[in-house]
Amino acid sequence: MVKNNTQGTATLLSDKQLQRYSRHILLPNVDVAGQQKLLQSHVLIVGLGGLGSPAAIYLAASGIGKMTLCDFDRVDESNLQRQVLYHDAQVGQSKTDAAKRHLLQLNPDLQVDLDADVQNLETLRDHCKQVDAIIDASDNFQTRHAVNQACFASRKPLISAAAIRMEGQVAVFDFRQSGSPCYACLYSQNSTDPTQETCTENGILAPVVGILGAMQALETIKVLLNIGETLNGKLLLFDAFMQDWRQVRLHPDPACEVCSLK
Ligand SMILES: [Zn+2]
Repeated sequence: MVKNNTQGTATLLSDKQLQRYSRHILLPNVDVAGQQKLLQSHVLIVGLGGLGSPAAIYLAASGIGKMTLCDFDRVDESNLQRQVLYHDAQVGQSKTDAAKRHLLQLNPDLQVDLDADVQNLETLRDHCKQVDAIIDASDNFQTRHAVNQACFASRKPLISAAAIRMEGQVAVFDFRQSGSPCYACLYSQNSTDPTQETCTENGILAPVVGILGAMQALETIKVLLNIGETLNGKLLLFDAFMQDWRQVRLHPDPACEVCSLK
């Protein structure tokens, strides 16, 4: 079916897609053209744990056309409490394979590529060149810095989040815009690892990662469609215990080892 979007240009979505995405298309900021753009977008998700699960599920349901999923891990019994991509019978299976099955069942419009090598900077750089946005849902300092460098090098938007216990944070580093701060401006690679505390040792209340992963999916869609006010250059801090949200503005660090050199 051909439908005219708000810009007056004809776009093609099947009748099934018009029905499927009708609640998006009703939104003036999305419309047919926006949904078409989502269907043509490619997102890289690094880490398929507590954050990556809801992020991937919401993006797949939203009609993102293609995803590259990176994780080297296998589904563990202790993941099932919060990693909603997986179910009981998948314990022991590769996370990327299990995630792909779940997402394709949810939305057959989606194309999924898999990669188990998430820590290799060269591989990450290659992936970043191919995609429109990157979600960092990893759980360690080293991967976060590698993803930040790869995103900065390819000038692609990075949607980053972290969570532990009953708290978390989310930020956008939109390297399409000059002068954006980067993850290394916030946490220097030479500093003590602020994320060295892990969920394995400290625990995490399940919906906390659900909320932050969904927030990453939301910011990704806004970045892809260039709509609204994103978290670019801002850090949103969530304290689930006190039910408190705080926003802090981030500034580029003139001495940053990543973004001040180029
Ligand atoms: Zn920087």
